[in-house]
Amino acid sequence: MEKILLHTCCAPCSASTIPALTLLTDFKIVSLWYNPNIYPRSEYISRYDSWKKYMQIQGIKTIEKETPWNDDSQYEKMWLDDAVKYEKGRCQYCYLKRLEKTAKIAQKNNIKNFSTTLLASPYQQHDVIKSIALEIASEYKLNFVYVDPRKLYYSGVNNVKHIGLYTQKYCGCKLSIR
Ligand code: SF4
Repeated sequence: MEKILLHTCCAPCSASTIPALTLLTDFKIVSLWYNPNIYPRSEYISRYDSWKKYMQIQGIKTIEKETPWNDDSQYEKMWLDDAVKYEKGRCQYCYLKRLEKTAKIAQKNNIKNFSTTLLASPYQQHDVIKSIALEIASEYKLNFVYVDPRKLYYSGVNNVKHIGLYTQKYCGCKLSIR
């Protein structure tokens, strides 16, 4: 069966994106964890644990890519400073870097399709994510699979809460805490 590499930001967004992808395609989903934007480390670990357990429950294979930083004191130098300096704004940097990494890992693993759970949240810049993903797909000669799971978002979050997994209170980076 053909595979799709799903960049996964967290369990709550997976809970709507996975059903949306399953409805649309027959691809075997492989979930990628790569989220160096999440601050502080304690929050990163909470989201990582929630993601890992959710994928185990769903029987979905995972790939993990560590962040370039692993201590809170390295966060600004290794992530936030570059994000803030990015001319199109820090969120576009955040989408771009995570999706570029997804494309590179898809190529390395000979997976021709990719998508992202970032499309699930009504709080994200949905059209910008879609447009960045399409540009990356063209650059890396991959197939970006677009879905719009936003209508399922709140039921997905509630499902994750219901099974007792952690759900976050803010987007992810240090600036989004406030
Ligand atoms: S607000 Fe969210 S999308 Fe924007 S930079 Fe912060 S973590 Fe990334």
